[in-house]
Amino acid sequence: MDVAGLGGMFISCAMISTVMCNQCDEQARGICQLCGRGVCSQHHSSLPSLVAIYGQDPPRAIVVSDTLWCGICRPQPEPISMPELA
Ligand SMILES: [Zn+2]
Ligand SMILES: [Zn+2]
Repeated sequence: MDVAGLGGMFISCAMISTVMCNQCDEQARGICQLCGRGVCSQHHSSLPSLVAIYGQDPPRAIVVSDTLWCGICRPQPEPISMPELA
């Protein structure tokens, strides 16, 4: 099969062995914890990331600071109430 004939437009995930940076096409050093973009050592930032919610009345969140962040995606500016978790 002539893969080049696809014009590079469609690349199967199974063909990619390394994740590339979303901004510069360098090999990524990690994955953004919020959106899943690949980020290299040049373009990564850090941001607190919510990893779990537990307990009741009120539910408490476990937040990890300085997790890998792509610098592009943004968490919602306002917390979203989730009364079904209470
Ligand atoms: Zn980069
Ligand atoms: Zn991101």
